[in-house]
Amino acid sequence: MSADSLQAPAPLSFERQPHPAPTSDADRAAVLASPGFGKHFTDHMAHAVWTADGGWGQARVEPYGPLQLDPSAAVLHYAQEIFEGMKAYRWADGSVWTFRPQANAARFARSARRLALPELPEADFIASLEALVAADEAWVPTGGETSLYLRPFMFASEAFLGVRPAAKVDYLVIASPAGAYFTSGPRPVKLLVSRTYTRAAAGGTGAAKCGGNYAASLLAQQEAYAAGCDQVVFLDAAEQRWVEELGGMNVFLVTADGRLLTPELTGSILEGVTRDSILEIARDMGLEPVEQRIALDDWLSMVASGEVTEAFACGTAAVVTPIGSFVDGGGTKPAAAETEVAGKVTEAVRATLLDVQYGRAEDRRGWMHRLV
Ligand SMILES: *Cc1c(COP(=O)(O)O)cnc(C)c1O
Repeated sequence: MSADSLQAPAPLSFERQPHPAPTSDADRAAVLASPGFGKHFTDHMAHAVWTADGGWGQARVEPYGPLQLDPSAAVLHYAQEIFEGMKAYRWADGSVWTFRPQANAARFARSARRLALPELPEADFIASLEALVAADEAWVPTGGETSLYLRPFMFASEAFLGVRPAAKVDYLVIASPAGAYFTSGPRPVKLLVSRTYTRAAAGGTGAAKCGGNYAASLLAQQEAYAAGCDQVVFLDAAEQRWVEELGGMNVFLVTADGRLLTPELTGSILEGVTRDSILEIARDMGLEPVEQRIALDDWLSMVASGEVTEAFACGTAAVVTPIGSFVDGGGTKPAAAETEVAGKVTEAVRATLLDVQYGRAEDRRGWMHRLV
């Protein structure tokens, strides 16, 4: 084996193929005035292709638009797909930053491994974000808690119905301007305790960020809406006793004696970057972070005894969302001392993260990465 073949391949260079007819300034301004979430997309997308023979290549930033897929593309049949969710934040000085992209790159690689997809090196993952946001910088909103949501994803595009890992895979990043998640401050959510469905089991794909996990959660989510709830809280599959997480957010409890509890990672919980960041900043805020199994029954009795004062869910999209109550069986039960307003610790955790993300507080851990 020659020395050359042992060296890492050169990082991908995402060449820009400019959109021939980009959105007009007026039309873009109209979108940015009221972006909502996930409804509007920028003019470009980053794209690269992997083949079993050639590895990663064909990297470019190209006009946003429909993909051509063979009807036998493996993803359409066997759901070999993974994704990430991140944000680009505009700071007051006009610069644009993202939060802990190395953590998302590492998780994307772990998800890829679990779904038998090729790993995209961290440098290429970050290069794709930089190239796309450089091309579509004008789409990063300004002011409030707005952002440009970034959605990297990878899927099996090989035209083949045999059941094995695909030999051709596409990687893309699309971007969507996002308004403030809460228009009038965080409002506590009501959770349906699903006794019918689970999200993940030991040995399954719960720790991977894959579309299939979401597909399997939609029916439970529909039942939550029908029961007047906002979200589902999933329990462990084996005993239906331990709190795992919501469909797309991790869970924290705040205790009267200053502990910040979150379910420990058992292999069926998705390791959120927001979760990890909150565990890291807890001590700065005078809280003791504790990762442990949390039984739903204990949560309820700790609310009744006054031991649990606040509860919240966290994830990139909403950052931190207070949890107010549960619907379980017929009845509604409090999930925290206050069910209608966010608690003080919840608000402080939320503000601490947002201040770093928007450049209003010192970034002591080197979490922010400049894109533009
Ligand atoms: C993405 C996701 C989260 C939150 O992860 P962040 O990295 O904090 O955005 C939590 N749970 C599930 C199931 C997820 O898919």
